[in-house]
Amino acid sequence: MKNRKILLINPWIEDFAAYDYWLKPIGLLYVASLLKHLGVEVELLDLMNRHNLELREYTKVPSDKYYGTGKFPYTEIKKPDALSFIPRRYKRYGMPEALFRDKLRRIKAQGNIDAAFVTSTLTYWYPGYFDTIRIIKEELGVPIVFGGFFVRNQPRLATKSGAHIFTKTDLSYLPTYLNNVLGWELPSTNIDWFLDLSPAYELYDNIGYLVLITTLGCPYNCTYCIAHRNWERMKFKPVEKVIEEIERFSQMYQIKDIVFFDDAILINVQNHFKIILKEIIARGLNRKLRFHLPNGIHAKLLTQEISDLLYEANFKTIKLGYETTGKLQQTTGGKIKDEDLIKAAEILRKSGFTHREVSAYIMVNLPEQKEEDVKSAIDVCASVGIDFSLNEFTPIIGTDMWIDLVNKASLSGLEDPVTLNNSILPYWWKNMSFNQVQNLKEYARIKKRTLEAY
Ligand code: SF4
Repeated sequence: MKNRKILLINPWIEDFAAYDYWLKPIGLLYVASLLKHLGVEVELLDLMNRHNLELREYTKVPSDKYYGTGKFPYTEIKKPDALSFIPRRYKRYGMPEALFRDKLRRIKAQGNIDAAFVTSTLTYWYPGYFDTIRIIKEELGVPIVFGGFFVRNQPRLATKSGAHIFTKTDLSYLPTYLNNVLGWELPSTNIDWFLDLSPAYELYDNIGYLVLITTLGCPYNCTYCIAHRNWERMKFKPVEKVIEEIERFSQMYQIKDIVFFDDAILINVQNHFKIILKEIIARGLNRKLRFHLPNGIHAKLLTQEISDLLYEANFKTIKLGYETTGKLQQTTGGKIKDEDLIKAAEILRKSGFTHREVSAYIMVNLPEQKEEDVKSAIDVCASVGIDFSLNEFTPIIGTDMWIDLVNKASLSGLEDPVTLNNSILPYWWKNMSFNQVQNLKEYARIKKRTLEAY
C-alpha cells in the first residue's frame, strides 16, 4: 500500500463572541492516533490553538487569563445574511487567514498530502467550518473529509461545503469509510480507538493546557442535551492509560493545567475516577499540576470521600450541573434537585473548597422556565457560598426538547442553525425577551458580590 499522508484541521469559529475555555479538538486527536496506528502519516493544523508558536508573528494574541484559558485573536467579518438583523459585530476567531494560507502553502510545497480532514462541533459555528474548507480547497486541491458533531447533526447542510462527509460518532468506521470514499487500502484493526489509543497531542508545536476524556457516554437523558445519544453504553479508559497521558503530555509541553471534559465522570466512581484521583496523589502529580472539571459534574453523585480526594489532588475548577430550579428539574430529566446541589456544596466546603473553585451552571431561557426559576437557582448557589455562571439555552436540533418545540410550533424545525445561537435567540425567539435575559444577568452580577463574604 502507498504511504498516505493526511492533514487534520481544527477549523475556525465564527460567532459574535468566543472564549478559549479549554477548547481542544479531542475527537480529531483520536482520529490522528487511529490513522497513525493504521500507518498513515498525519499532520495537524489547529486554527484555534492560542498557544501556537508562530501565531504571535502574525497577530496580537491576548495573554492567558486563568489556568491557560483566554481570549482568541479575531478578525471582524461580514455577518451571514440570516444574522444581518443582529446589532452586533461578527468575528472570525483563531489563526489569521494569512498564517493559515502560509502554512497550507508550506505543506503543499512538501508535495505529499493525500487528503485533509476537518472536524466540527457546535452547529451554529458552521460558517467558520465552511470558510476553512473553502481555503483548504483553494490552497491544496486535495479531497476533504468533514466530520464531527455538526456533520452528524446536519449532514445535508454539511454536504454544501463540498467535502465528503463522515457521519459516524464511532471512529471504528473510519478506515472502511476512507477506503470506500478515497479508494485507499487501509488495513482493518481490532483496536479500540478510545481504550487503547491516546489523543495525539504530540502533533502540536505547543499547547497551554491538556484536555482529556477518561470516559465516553452518559446514562442520563436530559431533554435539552444530545450527548447521551452518542454512545449506547459507557466506556471507561484504563486508569494507567489516563495517568500515562497526564504524565507524558504535561512533561512534553511543560504545562500545569489538566482538564477532564467527561460528560459523566462520577459514574462508577469507585472503580474509575476515585482510582485516578488516588494515583494522581500517590505519584505526587498534585504537587506540580492543577486539575479542572469544567463540564458540570453530577452533584448527587458526589461523596465526602471523593470531594476530599479532589481537594488533595489539587482541583482548581469544579463545575456542578444545576441548570434551573422549579418543576423543570424533573421534566427535563431529573439529574439534580436543589437538595443535591446544597449537599454537594456543603461537602465541597467541608473539604476546603471555596467559591473560587466551585461554581454551578445555571441555564437561562429554557422553554417554560420562569425568571423566578433562574433567580431562585442563583439564590440557592449564593446561600451555600458557591459561584454560578449563567448559560443561555440553545435548542439543539434532534434533542427531545427541540422535537417538542417543533411539535408545539414554537420553532419551525427549518431554522438555519446560525439563528439558534444561544446569544442571539432572545432577539427573535418568543421565549424570554432580550431585556428579561439582561435583567437576570444583572441580578447575577449583584448576587455574586455577596460571595466574597464566604
Ligand atoms: S447529565 Fe449532562 S451529559 Fe448527561 S444527558 Fe444530562 S446534560 Fe447531557
